[in-house]
Amino acid sequence: MLPFKLIYSDGYDLSLGAHVFPSQKFRWIREKCLADGIATAEDFLAPEPAPDEDILRVHSQEWVRKLKTGKLTLVEVTRLEIPWSAATQRAFWLSAGGSTLASRRALADGCGFNLGGGFHHAYHDHGEGFCAIHDVAIAIRRLQADGAIQTAMVVDLDVHHGNGTAAIFTADPSVFTLSMHQENNYPHPKPPSDIDVGLRDFTRDEEYLKLLDDALAEAFRRFAADAARRPPINPVAGATGLGDLLWYLAGADPYVEDQLGGLGLTINGLMERDRKVIAAARSRGIPIAITFAGGYARRVEDTVQIHVNTILAAREAFGTTDEHS
Ligand SMILES: [Zn+2]
Repeated sequence: MLPFKLIYSDGYDLSLGAHVFPSQKFRWIREKCLADGIATAEDFLAPEPAPDEDILRVHSQEWVRKLKTGKLTLVEVTRLEIPWSAATQRAFWLSAGGSTLASRRALADGCGFNLGGGFHHAYHDHGEGFCAIHDVAIAIRRLQADGAIQTAMVVDLDVHHGNGTAAIFTADPSVFTLSMHQENNYPHPKPPSDIDVGLRDFTRDEEYLKLLDDALAEAFRRFAADAARRPPINPVAGATGLGDLLWYLAGADPYVEDQLGGLGLTINGLMERDRKVIAAARSRGIPIAITFAGGYARRVEDTVQIHVNTILAAREAFGTTDEHS
């Protein structure tokens, strides 16, 4: 049994048919966890779709109405880069509910995974790059509204810049955003995160991991320094100023064999990356919620393995509660 929950629904599949985004990967991650004996059925929790009230804390009424009625313009569908259907809409709402549940589980258990989600290219009033609504932002806003957290940090290590995250939380001192990505890649332009590390093409493990160490240290240093300037609304008991929740977007697409990426990380390098982020949160006593974002490896098995390795890295860090072993 894992020491944290994996949030999953069969409904996460965006039902895209033949598409570079393998949206069946969510199911395959679950199946691999079960087949390899990493998880049992009890380790999984099913989410409810996020209520519209939660979606509307982040997105415009007009955008939500269009998504729910399927009345997207050709320009909007082109920018989204995926076909739109009722099943796709439900998958996004489930993902947002899943990220909210993963956040709550992180506060309860120290760590929580949403196997779907990480739709970091979604903006307030439009979607793009396979992302219709921003599940992580929706989750953070809901937990803030509940008074469960005051502050959060988003660490986005997808190969693509977290443009939606940066735009949604711009000028919001309660949420610190860090994006480490390939500079010479989608999206253009890249609205500024609190920290942006734009990597050169073909950056490899060693350099990447060094820059990650530096970026994480800088993020916590600056977020703590900013704490004095944040208004003390609903302060959370025991808060350290380092953030009440860390959201980690563990994209698999910095992988050297990714079709939409241009970095040079190995599968082992990516797992080391996961260990560093998880240790950065755990050593500071910050609950961590994790989602998977992109992954377009030539061999989809590699994408699935990279994501499963993130779960294994968390299990290493949080220990096992398997009373049978
Ligand atoms: Zn990506």
